[in-house]
Amino acid sequence: MKRLAVIVPCYNEEVVIAESYRRTKEVLASLPNPTEIIYINDGSRDKTREMLDNIAANDPEVKVIHFSRNFGHQPAVTAGINNCEADLAIIIDADMQDPPELIPDILALQEKENANVVYCVRKSREGESVFKLFTAKAFYRIMNYMSEVHFPLDTGDFRLVDRKVMNEFDRFKERGKYIRGLISWVGFHQVPFYYEREARIAGETKYPLSKMVKFASTAMLYFSKKPLRLATSLGFISVLVGIVLASWFTLGKIYGFSNAETGWTSIMTSVIFFGGVQLLTVGVLGQYVGILFDEIKARPEYIIDETKNFK
Ligand code: UDP
Ligand code: MG
Repeated sequence: MKRLAVIVPCYNEEVVIAESYRRTKEVLASLPNPTEIIYINDGSRDKTREMLDNIAANDPEVKVIHFSRNFGHQPAVTAGINNCEADLAIIIDADMQDPPELIPDILALQEKENANVVYCVRKSREGESVFKLFTAKAFYRIMNYMSEVHFPLDTGDFRLVDRKVMNEFDRFKERGKYIRGLISWVGFHQVPFYYEREARIAGETKYPLSKMVKFASTAMLYFSKKPLRLATSLGFISVLVGIVLASWFTLGKIYGFSNAETGWTSIMTSVIFFGGVQLLTVGVLGQYVGILFDEIKARPEYIIDETKNFK
């Protein structure tokens, strides 16, 4: 029988932990497989730490990893996978937006298809703002256009991965991890599982706009060189515009078909336009240089303060 681990990143989730544990445990108890839950406390500042320690003290099948500070959702999931010894792992959010009750069906699908990855595709999303729905939809579509690999649309980190995929994942050295992208990139046999995403059972999203932007730009920059190519194309376009304008005004001056003396408008327009193009392209370059800087420092992705129930 395959061993199953459920990986749950938690950041300031005191209002959902108890219910989340109860529901997950109930589902796991109904399975014939040996199971465990790995909670990663991503530097929470509320009661999450005490609550998780309490659960681990009473349940040897719960393992806990405490980070030394808030490192982010993706490093938390990474730590879960790195420290997982089970044959299969399911990554799930603490807020129950991805219902744990689906775990038996996901396992059954894995078995039936002999899949290495079962990725869960959201048919619908409950209880989220119009802004979040729109940006999420747009993000997955733009990502697919930008990236050299194809990603399944509307798919978060809620998925099942097997030992083979986890072993490959552990070899990734990059620090800016876009996990759902990396797991697609790994290949093997991946199958979709369709579900309705529910509303958070309590509390607020831990992904404010600033974290969303950081997440999206990591995904974009680590999986695509298109922004750099776009910068080149923009450069070409502005050079072309420049040549056409310069020729037009010069010839106009010589043959008298343009009254270029009143040049204020054209000068201002071109200064602003070319200034903009230059700043934009330097900015894009800067983003990639920033990534090189981070990667070259080769700092660890996360720092573990303490663990519970790990052998
Ligand atoms: N999370 C985390 N670290 C962070 C932000 C979020 O570990 O810095 C966890 C959070 O506790 C939750 C999951 O990542 O289990 C997804 O976050 P959330 O539900 O707030 O995001 P949303 O569903 O609103 O996109
Ligand atoms: Mg959520």
